[in-house]
Amino acid sequence: MIFHSRDFNLTEKLDYYAAGASVFYGLYYTPIRVFRLEQSRKEQLLNIWTWTCLALYVAHVSYLTFWRWDYTYNMAANVVAGIVQNILWSWFSVTRYRKMHKIWAAWPGLIVAWIVFAMSFELLDFPPVWGMIDAHSLWHLGTVLPTYWWYNFLLKDAQEDMAGERLKA
Ligand SMILES: [Zn+2]
Repeated sequence: MIFHSRDFNLTEKLDYYAAGASVFYGLYYTPIRVFRLEQSRKEQLLNIWTWTCLALYVAHVSYLTFWRWDYTYNMAANVVAGIVQNILWSWFSVTRYRKMHKIWAAWPGLIVAWIVFAMSFELLDFPPVWGMIDAHSLWHLGTVLPTYWWYNFLLKDAQEDMAGERLKA
């Protein structure tokens, strides 16, 4: 919000690094949930994955800070990290829905479809309408609903997990 109203070198960097952190964090936790890497027998794999993701993010920020402030590279890195998560969550949705037959199990796949649609505004840029509404503002508008929707999915998923644990106990 600060960057979009006050475009300075510092606010731009903060915006890009924070957006990158959010995308990379998604890349980090998606395989943890999908492949259940939090299980104690997969601890080593989780450790490797944690350090890999940390190194990727540090390398990403270092490249942009010390090498080149490169918009094309930044967009490409985020799109690639985003597509990996999108594929994993879509696959997760299909397999979970087939198993559970609960509509909310399919939410991640539907949210992915929504995000891809909203993201098309990021990739297919156009000049601002009435000098005011540009593609990027519509992208931001498009992220409001999936944030709320996604939170509700995480909640249901965690509740389902807890119910499963109770059955086992
Ligand atoms: Zn923005």
